[in-house]
Amino acid sequence: MATAMAASALVPPAAAVTRQRTLLCVPATARAPREMAAEVAAAAALGADVAELRLDRLSGFAPSRDLPVLLAGPRPLPALVTYRWGPAAFSARGWCGGESPSCLPCTERGRASWPKWEGGEYEGDDEPRFEALMLAMELGAEYVDIELKVADKFMKLISGKKPETCKLIVSSHNYENTPSAEELGNLVAQIQATGADIVKIATTATEIIDVARMFQILVHCQEKQVPIIGLVMNDRGFISRVLCPKFGGYLTFGTLEKGKESAPAQPTIADLINVYNIRQIGPDTKVFGIIGKPVGHSKSPILHNEAFRSVGFNAVYVPFLVDDLANFLTTYSSPDFAGFSCTIPHKEAAVRCCDEVDPIARDIGAVNTIIRKSDGKLVGYNTDYVGAISAIEDGIRALQPTETTTSPLAGRLFVVIGAGGAGKALAYGAKEKGARVVIANRTFARAQELGNLIGAPALSLAELENYHPEEGMILANTTAIGMHPNVNETPLSKQALKSYAVVFDAVYTPKDTRLLREAAECGATVVSGLEMFIRQAMGQFEHFTGMPAPDSLMRDIVLAKI
Ligand code: NAP
Repeated sequence: MATAMAASALVPPAAAVTRQRTLLCVPATARAPREMAAEVAAAAALGADVAELRLDRLSGFAPSRDLPVLLAGPRPLPALVTYRWGPAAFSARGWCGGESPSCLPCTERGRASWPKWEGGEYEGDDEPRFEALMLAMELGAEYVDIELKVADKFMKLISGKKPETCKLIVSSHNYENTPSAEELGNLVAQIQATGADIVKIATTATEIIDVARMFQILVHCQEKQVPIIGLVMNDRGFISRVLCPKFGGYLTFGTLEKGKESAPAQPTIADLINVYNIRQIGPDTKVFGIIGKPVGHSKSPILHNEAFRSVGFNAVYVPFLVDDLANFLTTYSSPDFAGFSCTIPHKEAAVRCCDEVDPIARDIGAVNTIIRKSDGKLVGYNTDYVGAISAIEDGIRALQPTETTTSPLAGRLFVVIGAGGAGKALAYGAKEKGARVVIANRTFARAQELGNLIGAPALSLAELENYHPEEGMILANTTAIGMHPNVNETPLSKQALKSYAVVFDAVYTPKDTRLLREAAECGATVVSGLEMFIRQAMGQFEHFTGMPAPDSLMRDIVLAKI
């Protein structure tokens, strides 16, 4: 399936196809009508196009009393009214009403895994629910959402009574998986047959490649001029929420703030607008992103999206939560998925997945940047290496200016702690600059392996504590020790740090790690991992865009926002 839908299927519809801008909708989920109205006002102030009024969230909801508060009079935003079933109603009807053949039926497993906050909270009969939705229509709601399972019944009820201005969204939710493209196509047809104005399908990603099937359906619907909201829930489906404008999605959801999600992994409206520049995303927008697992913590989207925007480059940069790199690259093989950053744990697999690998990245055995060339071939690079080594060189030069062009690392004893992707990049880079490299690692066999590769002795971490063969040594930590939240940890005691003249820490959250603080107290020159982060990102930007990186802007963004 993945291969079958690759390149051609993920090409967005031609610009000639008429398309409206993807709407940004904020779910209003407060418990009281006035608070919900305040959420709508806040959503308008943040730049939303629509507010979803989740009637099932209102405590003691009385339609004739509460709906006028929400719908009558001038409103800051068009309203999408939803009155969603809750767990009890679901367990009576089955998982998503049993409308999808691949959906879990009413099994114990299904009920047990139903997370209440994800779904609706209404637990009564359909009739009062339908009456509330009809009243919302009369009061001028611009959109009403009804589940596919009961759509025919609702249609009969509203026959001839639905105001012209109200659009009916018929929705299907699958909290278990994302069906095949064929099944999704059949589902669209089934929803259209109810007379829906807008089709809504929300599925669940078990892998990020599932989202490609949803994009394929969006493209198909766009070509047929069928308005569709197609979203894939949970972290692995996150890209569906950001990239839907590229593929023609009618609407996407963004929360008012973190913690107010109405479905798993919804971004905030502020992030959609300000981080992902969603208003600028269209069919021609190139997609870049960071491939990792985990990846949600990465600050790279903040940095690259703002840098792209600053030079007018039509591209978006998203987090890709990837389990299997080869499958991901095969599935998202269209030219529009133009380049990737790679982080833990995929840097080594990336060497094998690229058609061509820069000789330095191949020697290091780690790729942190992948570019798709115009002929579709994937080329791998390593910008960690240049970023880290140049940061350390400049850190030393700043305090010990010299006239020579020789690297200040030449001839120095350079101790690398760690033998993973960053460790390899640092060890290789220092060796290239003429340093005498030593590797120390928790797993001694890995230290030996890297040592053998580049011709360097290996030490255990215990041996490192008393290692002091000469003055003026340089230390580079490339493990995650000391990284947030474990900010009180450090890879080497303060006593042992006294042997070093220069200390670099690849960890950059926090900027001032305990290692760097203690090294500075011992009188060493310290170089922050933030400097490496900025420089490796600038290298990636240049590979992605072919333009010089906006140096001071990227530096400012990192210092201000990361
Ligand atoms: P990696 O390939 O997974 O390697 C991790 C290394 O850290 C391994 O050598 C591992 O030792 C060691 N390690 C992990 N936890 C340890 C612990 N509790 N005690 C002792 N050793 C431990 O990861 P990576 O890609 O090299 O990244 C490593 C760090 O560098 C991360 O913090 C990452 O954020 C940072 N980094 C920063 C930048 C930047 O731009 N500043 C760029 C890349 C990476 P074993 O072999 O024993 O498992």
